[in-house]
Amino acid sequence: MSKKITTKADKKCFCGYFVVRNTKNLIIIIYCVHYGPFFFNTKNYSKKEEEERPSSKSFSFRVTSKQNHRRKRKEKKMTTTKRGSLVQLKCAIQHYDWGIVGDQSAVAQLGSLNREEPIAKEKPHAEMWMGTHSSGLNVIKNERREHLKSFVESNAEEALGKKCQQRFGNDVPFLLKVLSVAKALSIQAHPDKQLAERLHEEKPNMYKDANHKPEMALAVTEFEALSGFVSEPKESLQKCPELRALTGIRMEEMDAMREDKKAQMKHVFTKVMLAEKEEVATQVQTLVKRLKAENKKDERDELALRLNAQYPDDVGVMCAYLLNYIKLQPGEAVYMAANEPHAYLDGECVEVMATSDNVVRAGLTPKARDTEILCDMLTYKLGKPEVLTGDVIDKNTTRYSPPFDEFELEVVSCAKEDTAEMTVSQGPSILLVKNGKGKINDDVAIEKGSVVFANANEKMTLTSSDEGGISIYRAQVNTRVF
Ligand SMILES: [Zn+2]
Repeated sequence: MSKKITTKADKKCFCGYFVVRNTKNLIIIIYCVHYGPFFFNTKNYSKKEEEERPSSKSFSFRVTSKQNHRRKRKEKKMTTTKRGSLVQLKCAIQHYDWGIVGDQSAVAQLGSLNREEPIAKEKPHAEMWMGTHSSGLNVIKNERREHLKSFVESNAEEALGKKCQQRFGNDVPFLLKVLSVAKALSIQAHPDKQLAERLHEEKPNMYKDANHKPEMALAVTEFEALSGFVSEPKESLQKCPELRALTGIRMEEMDAMREDKKAQMKHVFTKVMLAEKEEVATQVQTLVKRLKAENKKDERDELALRLNAQYPDDVGVMCAYLLNYIKLQPGEAVYMAANEPHAYLDGECVEVMATSDNVVRAGLTPKARDTEILCDMLTYKLGKPEVLTGDVIDKNTTRYSPPFDEFELEVVSCAKEDTAEMTVSQGPSILLVKNGKGKINDDVAIEKGSVVFANANEKMTLTSSDEGGISIYRAQVNTRVF
């Protein structure tokens, strides 16, 4: 038996395995095991709507025998293998309110080039997401517009490589982002795996996955952040009388804890973060008034004033005196292990992390806070974070390798007359072109804003056709795993 449905035909599938799921509103959705959902409709979608809907083309669809189905399945397997090695991605943009507004933001520029759409100049552009996380889906730029996530799942061994698959399962273990920060992000920490699993189970709306989220930020411009606790909790109290008033902690109490500075810091931080909102507002206002009247202000005082201007009366203003205030120069990176407090403050960076979006917040945010959990989960490790400046791997490649298995970051640059043989990773890679124009392996044309997913074990040669050369960021599984 055969049945034929014809619309504006430009492709055929002979499999015959489909289900008609919805005929309402003159839209017929047919699900095919090879091509996913097809939409047959009489509605005229706008160009934008068409682009946003994956696999939304109209197809001619013919139902024939099981033999044909088997033949097609075999063909599909062959084409998957062939098409899979390097694919270009259309990425997701997040417009969180702390992002940089206007066309100068790196996220706006790279996002607009990547998505081939004009910059929405009135909107803040906060983050560009490159990877498989369900909150920022990436779509493969081909006629099928398949999601990267399903592409990887259906092709896991080849896309991820055996070792990576065994270690992390059927998903890309890292997420690459660009951040454009105009205003401080929340005071936050990311749970370890055990806590992430519990939080996801208890509050799935707030903690959307069960994974931990170590992360690393590489500065693109000067990049300011708060990261980890300062090493002398007593000094913080001495410097800021409002902090003493808010916590009610006397110096003798601190002395009684002898030299256990971790315990001292936990005591201070917990008291600050759990203080009554009204009391926090009163002390923050007193602090601001005092600082404004003072002629001599150091950079922490300036930061407290700035944080208060962005988030008036917020408890996070006090964190200017409790966390390390760092200013990374372009090319410098810091990493954040699980359960370490931090907040990004200003500037632009490239960030890599384990594939997760789990954030426990406690200040400088209009979003939901989980203060008790935050105070409880932190390790209270004291002292400045390690700043990575990158290891030179060869004449073209610098590698930033944090102490996490899921990821590392390479910066690969290539002058016009040069050829860069890229390192071969046994796991998957995601590449973002930072600037310039060129090719990977002679056949994949790339330019600023292009994002490419590369299968495991892919040999890649980078060349440039741009006078200024080409440079790319490449996220990959940490080499120490292999
Ligand atoms: Zn973070």
